[in-house]
Amino acid sequence: MAPSHVLRCCQRVLAWIPVIFIALVVCWSYYAYVVELCIFTIPNTGEQIVYLIIFHLSFIMFVWSYWKTIFTKPANPSKEFCLPKADKEQYEKEERPESQQEILKRVAKDLPLYTRTGTGAIRYCDRCQVIKPDRCHHCSACDMCVLKMDHHCPWVNNCVGFSNYKYFILFLAYSMVYCVFIAATVLQYFIKFWTLCRRKSAENCPKNQLPDNHAKFHVLFLFFVAAMFFISILSLFSYHLWLVGKNRSTIEAFRAPVFRNGPDKNGFSLGFSKNIAQVFGDQKKFWLIPVYTSLGDGHTFPTRLVNIDPEQPTVDLQPSIKSNAADGQANPRPLSESQNRLLGNDQHFAEDHSVKDAIKTEDDHTVTVTMESES
Ligand SMILES: [Zn+2]
Ligand SMILES: [Zn+2]
Repeated sequence: MAPSHVLRCCQRVLAWIPVIFIALVVCWSYYAYVVELCIFTIPNTGEQIVYLIIFHLSFIMFVWSYWKTIFTKPANPSKEFCLPKADKEQYEKEERPESQQEILKRVAKDLPLYTRTGTGAIRYCDRCQVIKPDRCHHCSACDMCVLKMDHHCPWVNNCVGFSNYKYFILFLAYSMVYCVFIAATVLQYFIKFWTLCRRKSAENCPKNQLPDNHAKFHVLFLFFVAAMFFISILSLFSYHLWLVGKNRSTIEAFRAPVFRNGPDKNGFSLGFSKNIAQVFGDQKKFWLIPVYTSLGDGHTFPTRLVNIDPEQPTVDLQPSIKSNAADGQANPRPLSESQNRLLGNDQHFAEDHSVKDAIKTEDDHTVTVTMESES
């Protein structure tokens, strides 16, 4: 076996270490909570049953979403984004970047692409030999192009992207619920054990109703570990909720996507509630369950930076926006996935700066309208 293959295998095995670490901590927390706390420490049967039921509910949801985040394969660009054989051979023969761009442009004109590189070129992955769909990026850890790539997460040893972003958010949410529930229910026993320990160390230990055995070490650690994990996940979870509300990936938050008119960090934003629906789906009853409900196919995304289809029914807008519309300005209503796909041709793409400016200035109003109409 070639040394590079051995190295690659070692890297693959080592990449599982963070996941195994989390799995061991979760297994220990299960044992510590169920056996050491609920069975050995809590004297009241009613309290035991209530704690065990809620604990198992949060445990199942947490493990389920974690499992789905780890084992959902990242989505890759479909075959239509690969260069046809003749074009690929020609591309490889060409040495001048300008000629290569010409080939890419010719192939890309039939594809629903709105984003470009910083220099305005078609985004192409030489490694995967594929034209990158909008929001798609190459992950060096996975060695593949990942649709709507957010980031590569070592704690799940997987790319977080279009196929598992909802699961990732739920994993963060349920791990926080799990930690909060453990910390809140353990707290009173933590305090009792803590004071018991201190009294014992002063060799003046009164009779205590709690068992003075190894359970106390589990209970003490349980509180510390749950509180520590909760604090560290809280900021990450808040950040990702903010990203979902803005319809941005972590990569896009650091570097705005470049459209044909230039970079625009809000290019994919459709308004708060529509942005949430993009990740969690249309039906609220499925939002908290780690099953696939995200909208779209991951290759093309609705963007507001396109012309408005005059055949679409109009939505009820605020008076201020109505007056703008009456003045002849474009209505920045987002387009649906299918409509967006149809706008792949150059002629449909809004190069018109007045349209884009109108969209930009009305951005905040649109969000307000969307939220108000739903409340
Ligand atoms: Zn790639
Ligand atoms: Zn990756």
